[in-house]
Amino acid sequence: MSIHSSIPWFDDFMGVAYRYYDLRMNVVPLLTDRKQSASLWHDTIHWWVDPSIKIRFVEIGDKYWFILGSDSQKPDTNLSFFKVLHKSENYERFKKGHGGEAYLRLGVYAKKTLSDVKKSALCNCSHEARDHDEGDNDVCLYNSCDCKKFASFQVNLLKRKKTITDILYLEEKDVKDDPLAWNCLNKNKYSKSEQN
Ligand SMILES: [Zn+2]
Ligand SMILES: [Zn+2]
Repeated sequence: MSIHSSIPWFDDFMGVAYRYYDLRMNVVPLLTDRKQSASLWHDTIHWWVDPSIKIRFVEIGDKYWFILGSDSQKPDTNLSFFKVLHKSENYERFKKGHGGEAYLRLGVYAKKTLSDVKKSALCNCSHEARDHDEGDNDVCLYNSCDCKKFASFQVNLLKRKKTITDILYLEEKDVKDDPLAWNCLNKNKYSKSEQN
């Protein structure tokens, strides 16, 4: 039994953003609620011991497991994070560019509508807000575009940060040699599929 095996797993977040900020790559678990993000930081991440914070990426096909955990000065409220995500451009950029170090921050994800944004804001269709017709249900005015409604999102990074220096990419066959990744997949993948 490793020390990680008693820590509850937390996956109630939307995903992970990878951003340059403060001259370093940031790994940003995304929440939709500001209060939830504040209490998650206050109760759990604040107590993490920086040199013991670990991120493991386990790539399986076009998806990957994001696994984040740490020793804590307050073990009673400690959590480990995981999420199964699709590989993305930003994910690949982080993989190439992190150089062994990153900042961990939480982010709050906010959906934006046409009335919330500046004219130059980009829609998910890649066209600007000014190219969407406010009089016609926000439809995109580009003939070649089938976007019917302006939609965008914004990630607000919270200021507090922790430094991560233990970042590893693993293949599934190597997971058993890594206590944190092994505990995560054992609990959240293997034992679940056996039950079915
Ligand atoms: Zn659009
Ligand atoms: Zn468009």
